Amino acid sequence: MQLVEGVDKMKKVLVLEDEEAIRGFVVLNLKRAGYETIEASTGEDALVLFDQNPDIDVAVLDVMLPGIDGLEVCKTIRASNQKVGIIMLTAKSQENDKVAGLMNGADDYVSKPFSPLELIVRVDSLYRRVQLMKGNAQENSDEIKDGPFILNTKSRRLEKSGKKVEVTQVEFQLMRHFLENTGKAFSREEIFRKVWSDNFGGDRHKIVDVNIRRLRLKIEDDPSNPTYIQTVWGFGYRWGNE
Ligand code: CA
Repeated sequence: MQLVEGVDKMKKVLVLEDEEAIRGFVVLNLKRAGYETIEASTGEDALVLFDQNPDIDVAVLDVMLPGIDGLEVCKTIRASNQKVGIIMLTAKSQENDKVAGLMNGADDYVSKPFSPLELIVRVDSLYRRVQLMKGNAQENSDEIKDGPFILNTKSRRLEKSGKKVEVTQVEFQLMRHFLENTGKAFSREEIFRKVWSDNFGGDRHKIVDVNIRRLRLKIEDDPSNPTYIQTVWGFGYRWGNE
């Protein structure tokens, strides 16, 4: 084995998939794209490997598994780690799994069957976001303040009334977009293009709605009656602070 000099760190991806052929195909393509891969065929194994490899940048999790399913794995990983990027592999027919994955803290999903290019593009884009979040974690400056909220754009830390709110990459981007544009209404399409990559192939309106719903659970005083992220009926959302 050759030693790599300098700052060149391996980009690590966990691949959880019980079907050997699909797992092999995903791993092969990730390796070609320059990633180091860690493979798991059960959710139980994935959680052990995740604990043993705290430097995993992105986790690709299949939903349908024989033991604990990918949604449960996603939830467990998210409970202890907000920084890792998580992509769910969902069956095209299982619309509910996509929403459940996002509600459990996944950043993105890819529907089966998918092309290797599609998956790599999504892993790349999530990996870049994770790196931004990690790289900026120590610096501090650039605070955006609004009402009880302070969003630090360097450390990517969100506080509400002095208490830290754990947010994922996507949620951070959403908060930033809203706090930089308070009072302005944005369509779902505009929000989508601001936060997600244009290559995203899923249902854009749904992914925006689900992520807004999840963010509201974290930041609103009463998520069923939101006052910060307000719905603009038939259009999209607006950050209101009055
Ligand atoms: Ca499966």
